[in-house]
Formats: sequence, C-alpha cells, structure tokens
Amino acid sequence: MAPRRKKRSHVEEGMQLIQQCPLCEAVYEPLEIKVIDERDDKHLVFVTCKKCSHSVVALIQHQANGLSSMGLITDTEPEDLGRLKNSETVSWDDCIAWHNFLKEDQLSKETFLK
Ligand SMILES: [Zn+2]
Repeated sequence: MAPRRKKRSHVEEGMQLIQQCPLCEAVYEPLEIKVIDERDDKHLVFVTCKKCSHSVVALIQHQANGLSSMGLITDTEPEDLGRLKNSETVSWDDCIAWHNFLKEDQLSKETFLK
C-alpha cells in the first residue's frame, strides 16, 4: 500500500508542472489531467483546456535530481495516444521509399500535395 501511495504522489507532483494552458494561460483543474500511460518513473499525461479547448500531451519524468516535463500542443484525443503507442514507428527506409515513390510518380505527387 505504501509504494502505491508514493507513486501517486509522484504523479500529482508531476502534474503541478503543467498547471496552466500554454495558449490562454487558464489554470487546469487537477481532475482534468488524465494519466494516459505510466512506466517506471515516466508518466504520459493529457489535458484539454476548458477555456480554449486546446489539448496538451506531456511526458513527466522523475529523475534523481527532480522532476522534468516536456509538453506538446496536440489535436489528438487520449484514445488516439493509446492506439499510436502500439503502432509501428516510421523508419528511415519508409521515408526514403515514400520519397522515391513521389519522385518517380508525378501524378501521385500532385495528388498528395494538393
Ligand atoms: Zn487554453
């Protein structure tokens, strides 16, 4: 029971790093912040601003010298993050193959870039 309580307080501590919307500066309610994933000392959290409706996904990490957070403004939903987490990553080979495909097929390039 004690470790669970300790872990919970880490999450709450981390959430204090993302207290307000970076766009309109409205203060987030703690209950609006959803924990999407947690692994070791890392927590992926998601919050949607009630005032401007923009969403932020943030990675909160607990390190020996304290907490750090990195946030991104996003147009995804929390459910999308769970789905994307399990999808394959795009490799350099995929990018090169896509580049070659577009380079060789002018019709496709024009279609996709419209
Ligand atoms: Zn806002």
